[in-house]
Amino acid sequence: MKLLIVEDEPRLLRTLAQALRESGYAVDTAADGEEGCYKAMEADYDAVILDVMLPGMDGWEILRRLRAAKATPVLMLTARDATEDRVKGLDGGADDYLVKPFELDELFARIRAIIRRHAGRAHSLMQIGDVAIDTRARRVLHADTPVLLTAREYAILEYLALHRGQVISRTELYEHLFDENEDTLSNLLDVHVHGIRRKLRPDLIVTRRGEGYLVE
Ligand code: CA
Repeated sequence: MKLLIVEDEPRLLRTLAQALRESGYAVDTAADGEEGCYKAMEADYDAVILDVMLPGMDGWEILRRLRAAKATPVLMLTARDATEDRVKGLDGGADDYLVKPFELDELFARIRAIIRRHAGRAHSLMQIGDVAIDTRARRVLHADTPVLLTAREYAILEYLALHRGQVISRTELYEHLFDENEDTLSNLLDVHVHGIRRKLRPDLIVTRRGEGYLVE
């Protein structure tokens, strides 16, 4: 899953980006409104964390432009007690909002929820035959036995499972799982997919030659 954080407070931006990367997300960042708007429009993020008060262009304007173009899930960060902001945000097409200051755990829970809702899945547990994926705990079970995947393997499996039944191209996987700071050597998709098959089931992920990967 790849996220964009648009936030002009450097410390908060750093903290959020680091915490989200540590929990396995690929994270791009923008420190002002114009850069944030450009990135949100240009790339296909799984969710955008959008601060309201930003230099250059505020969060409302970014949300307006984004919604005119696509349905990327958006979590707005609003100032304390700004009830008007929350109403405005939800009316403007934000998927959820969070009032500053907030707990990281709550941010994580809301991000997971808006991504799941966007993918049309209300529950945090996905079952694929005898393989169960718990997106809340980021844990995978095979025939009720926990299987240890690397962060990368987990991210690939989760993305394919969320889009179950659809062929996902390698390009799309790259775009959603690797962020702007990562070196390409760690991005060997085939190696990760092989790892998932070996640890779980060889037929769990199907390769469609020339098209991409699929969880059926
Ligand atoms: Ca701000």
